Amino acid sequence: MWSQLPDAIEELADLPGMTDQTTLATLAVLTRILPPASFTDANLSALVICRAVTMSLEYGNTDASCTHYAWLGRISAGRFGDYQAADKFGRLACDLVDRSEFSRFRAPVYLAVGCNVIPWTKPLRDGRVLIRRAHEAAVISGDLIYEAYSLVHLTSNMIMAGDPLREVQNEIEKSIATTRNRKVQFAADTIDAQLAIIRTMRGLTRSFGCFDDQQFNELDVERSLAGSPERSPSQTVYWIRKLQARFLAGDYAAAVGARSKAEPQLWTMPTEPLIAEFHFYGALSHSCYCDKLGESQQQQHRDIIDAHYRQLQILATNCPENFENRAALVGAEIARRECRDADAMRLYEHSIQTAARNGFVHHEAIACELAARFYAARGFDRISRVYLQDARRGYLRWGADGKVRQLEELHPHLMHQEAPLAVNGMTIGAPVEHLDLATVIKVSQAISGEIVLQKLIDKLMRTTIEQAGAERGLLILLHGGEPRIEAEGKTVADALVVKVDEQPVTPMALPESVLHFVLRVRENVILEDAVAQPSFAEDPYIRERKARSILCLPLITQGKLIGVLYLENNLAPRIFSAARTSMQKMLASQAATALENSRLYSEVQQREAKIRRLLDANIIGIFIIQEGGEIIEANQAFLTMVGYDQEDLLAGRVNGLDLTPPEWHERTMDASTEAKRTGAVQQFEKEYVRKDGSRVPVLIGLAVFDAREDQGVGFVLDLTERKRAEAEARESERRYRETLMGLAHANRITTMGQLAASIAHEVNQPIAAISSNAGAGLNWLGAQPPNLEEVRQTFGLIVRDSMRAGNVIRRIRALMNKAPMQTELLAIDELIVEVLALVRAELAKNDVWVQTKRPEALPLVRADRVQVRQVILNLITNAIEAMSVIKEGDRELLISARMDGANSVLVSFRDTGPGLDPNSADRVFEAFYTTKSEGMGMGLAICHSIIEAHGGRMWAGPNDPRGAVFQFSMPVATEGVNGVQQVS
Ligand code: ADP
Repeated sequence: MWSQLPDAIEELADLPGMTDQTTLATLAVLTRILPPASFTDANLSALVICRAVTMSLEYGNTDASCTHYAWLGRISAGRFGDYQAADKFGRLACDLVDRSEFSRFRAPVYLAVGCNVIPWTKPLRDGRVLIRRAHEAAVISGDLIYEAYSLVHLTSNMIMAGDPLREVQNEIEKSIATTRNRKVQFAADTIDAQLAIIRTMRGLTRSFGCFDDQQFNELDVERSLAGSPERSPSQTVYWIRKLQARFLAGDYAAAVGARSKAEPQLWTMPTEPLIAEFHFYGALSHSCYCDKLGESQQQQHRDIIDAHYRQLQILATNCPENFENRAALVGAEIARRECRDADAMRLYEHSIQTAARNGFVHHEAIACELAARFYAARGFDRISRVYLQDARRGYLRWGADGKVRQLEELHPHLMHQEAPLAVNGMTIGAPVEHLDLATVIKVSQAISGEIVLQKLIDKLMRTTIEQAGAERGLLILLHGGEPRIEAEGKTVADALVVKVDEQPVTPMALPESVLHFVLRVRENVILEDAVAQPSFAEDPYIRERKARSILCLPLITQGKLIGVLYLENNLAPRIFSAARTSMQKMLASQAATALENSRLYSEVQQREAKIRRLLDANIIGIFIIQEGGEIIEANQAFLTMVGYDQEDLLAGRVNGLDLTPPEWHERTMDASTEAKRTGAVQQFEKEYVRKDGSRVPVLIGLAVFDAREDQGVGFVLDLTERKRAEAEARESERRYRETLMGLAHANRITTMGQLAASIAHEVNQPIAAISSNAGAGLNWLGAQPPNLEEVRQTFGLIVRDSMRAGNVIRRIRALMNKAPMQTELLAIDELIVEVLALVRAELAKNDVWVQTKRPEALPLVRADRVQVRQVILNLITNAIEAMSVIKEGDRELLISARMDGANSVLVSFRDTGPGLDPNSADRVFEAFYTTKSEGMGMGLAICHSIIEAHGGRMWAGPNDPRGAVFQFSMPVATEGVNGVQQVS
């Protein structure tokens, strides 16, 4: 096959279309069996790919050819080491699949290229654009499998690239329902392993480096994976992530063990960039493990390290951005073992620098840690400490709090001797110096004595602003991970005014770049003269306000970041020097604890109040139950729920076992066993049988009394209402979807049909009057002599009636606008994807191919979701309808969203239909203008008024080379900038 390939692979794009029916059918089969073949035997999948490509060379291209070109790219790199050919095949596959006639396999093609081709020659993060496109294409075509795959590979890419772990975890949690779909076993397994490593790195598992916690049990997972040979790829992912976790925890024996478990499974994913993780952590684990062995036992480990090193060097030659840092670090370790100290020093530094340059913060930290160990072993303690501090800082930036804690435990001096990092007037992590004890006690009492949140915040703002000599201060707290300004204090005419009022974080309120930096590194930052500070001088706030001295402190309690304290003084530089910030640091940590306590206190108060209200309202049923099931006491709410009365209770006729229907026995017995073992049972849903035999759905929680273990108390909530409401909601959701799916057709025929009837009725009356008056007027004119007085009167009547008709129409239009708008912050691009998912069937039926274009980050708009959805839906429907009459040529709809100037978002819908009639192009937005036999001509008029009501504009024009373009623009929400991903 290789001999048949042209020199320029891109020429394959010009092959004719495949028409031979037998070949088309064979190719369809080959495409179907490709994924299972790749999980069964690497050679089999290579054979399938080569056969399919050969057939394309002989008979021309079809949509399936794109998949095979992409896969040929995968194996060219991963199996045959030809990275340049891989790159070309990747590009060829994408170019072809972007054409409408070959677009069927967009999701698999984009994913294969973004995930398995790009990382070998270009920065890892570049692949994400295609992975996201794969996701979008999968959503649009309803391909659940590729939707799950693309999400898993996106997060995998983020983990490899060293993105902040909290962000990766957020991303995973957003998509967990899709990826845990058990029908896509590989995705479900991978997502679990990814969450496990993130959680342990963040210090959220029981012990650092081990995945075990409430959600994960290593032994169970390993047993289940080993028992399912078809899950070999999942095993590879699991063991490589375990290798990484154990290496970072310093458990090298376990790391080496995990590596050897991963090795036999590697064939299942020769083209995954994860292989580089295997070589990197495999080599480092063996190198560190060797340190504990005698000389004679080391040789076999050295061989393994050398083999990994050779692979990493090949990867580094083809893509230094991704792999040079890894190869250099393994090289440094080899040099260390061979006592080539000068080489080792140079290579550690090289690894640190290349990792930093390419954004691999975690590798930078690992390289620093290993360099520190190298210097310590040679007696250079001072140098070693500097590297260790850098390692700690790197792990902090990565978000690996578990690793930071481990380092601090192993090297307690790190916590006390952390030297501030001062570069060009910016200090990160200033130390705590000696403090005036009396002031400390005063301040500390002032803050910790306050338990009521409002008062505490007021006191905190006053004390910190005064102590620091700031002009203005902000308290920012995290709500579900999102920062919000909680209070502002500023000096107005020599008096300090504190306003406790929740507001969003905006670029007008503070330098967001500084805030996000502190949130990420969790260290205090001092800018001596912000306008002159290169890293932050471009921040809009610093530029416009000419900000000078800035101090920003993270509020951390028990290792948890709860917010940030921001102080500024724009009158002079260097107000907050590192030496004077100790008090603020101390205050910040006191404040963090006090704020958290106060929050907990108010939560407890709220919870108490809620429980009291429930008890008072007799909504919650409460009973006391004996071992054996007899209910010995119960409140009226419980008895009403189950249809018994006090007499039954006294006579011992109310029994938990009798109340429980047979299908709920097992669950109930499990619950009572759990209650006995742990003292309480997590609430669960079940049913009771009432005295009259009917059923009642309930939510129940149980606790065992401390003093008498044979008795417990149960709390029961009647779920009848909730279940009914849920069923109704489901039904109305179903109806809503149906209506939307049935599209404007159904809409027009029902809603619009009724509207049309009433409009016709309302308008007909004045029109009939006009017509009869006009007839009468003509008669008066025709009389001899003409009776002009009568004519004048009939004209008067005609004017009156035509105004009446006009008013009817105006009123109806006003009516359509009158529904009160319910605005919220909206991502228009996401709304487009949502609507596309709804019209999928309609698009497919009419053979319309949709392409969407949008930038990485589009600001949000403030708008009414339902109305804007209606606009998008209408424009898409119109385009589908317009194109449905086209007999020749492609039916393509290009929807793009982008910025229009600095303050608006512009959305365009370009179709390849017949286009607008040039004589009446400006009439399309008029009410009742239609060219369709069943049209109402109201759709665009309504869209137009919706967009205008949102302060935007809508217009239409011709598309090039054919079709129509409908566009609208909308102002960006002032607070919407929060929705844009901040890149700092
Ligand atoms: P209706 O669809 O009921 O006719 P609309 O107000 O939605 O009402 O559209 C008004 C008219 O605008 C249509 O009848 C059609 O002539 C024209 N039009 C709308 N969208 C397109 C389009 N994408 N291409 C060509 N003409 C269009």
